[in-house]
Amino acid sequence: MIAAVEPKRTYLDYNATAPLRAEAREAMLVALDLSGNPSSVHAEGRKARAIVEAARRQVAGLVNAAPKNVVFTSGATEANKTVISQVRFGAVAASGVEHPSVLEAARKRGEAVSILPVDNRGIVDLGALEDWLVGTQHLGERLVSVQWANNETGVIQPIDEIAQVVRAHEARLHVDAVQAAGRVTIDLSADPIAFLTLSSHKIGGPHGAGAIVQGCGGELKDPLLVGGGQESRLRAGTENVAGIAGFGAAAECAAGEVQSIGRLEALRQRIEAELTAMSPEAVVIGKGQSRLGNTLSVALPRARAETLVIAFDLAGVALSSGSACSSGKVARSHVLEAMGLGEQIVQSALRISMGWATTNEDIDRLLEAWSKVMKTDRAARQVA
Ligand code: PMP
Repeated sequence: MIAAVEPKRTYLDYNATAPLRAEAREAMLVALDLSGNPSSVHAEGRKARAIVEAARRQVAGLVNAAPKNVVFTSGATEANKTVISQVRFGAVAASGVEHPSVLEAARKRGEAVSILPVDNRGIVDLGALEDWLVGTQHLGERLVSVQWANNETGVIQPIDEIAQVVRAHEARLHVDAVQAAGRVTIDLSADPIAFLTLSSHKIGGPHGAGAIVQGCGGELKDPLLVGGGQESRLRAGTENVAGIAGFGAAAECAAGEVQSIGRLEALRQRIEAELTAMSPEAVVIGKGQSRLGNTLSVALPRARAETLVIAFDLAGVALSSGSACSSGKVARSHVLEAMGLGEQIVQSALRISMGWATTNEDIDRLLEAWSKVMKTDRAARQVA
């Protein structure tokens, strides 16, 4: 029998999920073969516990935190919800470009929640933040939630500056660092960040694992899930040992790659230069801004992103339109809208995101597909 040869695919959607790293897979296979519960005192239990604690050290190492401050969760969504639901906060503010897991968790609080505006570069308006901090002083302990880098545009927030402003007003800062981890240096021992969110599958670990890292002034008090005393009573439920093992291994690899982000940045520069030569109407979102080296958000006014994503998929290239669609449904990008970008940009933005396994050949194939897709798309637009 002749085996069908699968056509080569080019995966450029790392901000949605990065492919599993070999090291993570290996660590998971070892963990899957263990039979113990990490809370059990017998030898089998102790082996499982050792795996969880080794992973805790690896994840802490990624952000220069103490391992005891890492609380494992089922992912970043749970981590964000846990932080934002802490009952002691009298008021919560989140930027308008946060991930829905932050925005929806904040809205669920119902009372005293404010959405901070961003400017047309996607940067949080520091004046509005300061006004909010002054105006809510009487409300007791307050929480500000600002992401390190945006999942759609890659735009990096001035976290140091934000952290200083928040500290000066004696509030707490939560940073969703899901997209920044492994791509920028994160040092929790240096920054006054109270809580940091991480996700395993964005750095080459498995889905379904994440963490809250408690930093300076960040003490979790209210678990979202209650029951057993796992994770220092901060997150009940038997640990996802294999998931955590894979997360730990991926965190260690990602920590080693932060310094070499320039490799991806060079690939992105090549894409930007060649794309804009082929499609002079293309608009690079966040150009000139401090952006993640792996992310390119580019709009093609008059095109429809959803149609282009399908065309690229058929041409063997996986990329996404604006944010990752949820349940197969592509929603309008609240991020691009919050930046005040016009309709033409919002509906035509594509996201190309690279990572640890992306090669020059992947970019050759992307550019080849781009040329083909654009010819057909232009023809379609002329007929329509
Ligand atoms: N925050 C950001 C910035 C993200 O990009 C994502 C994933 N798209 C999440 C939170 C949610 O992560 P998880 O899938 O681990 O729940």
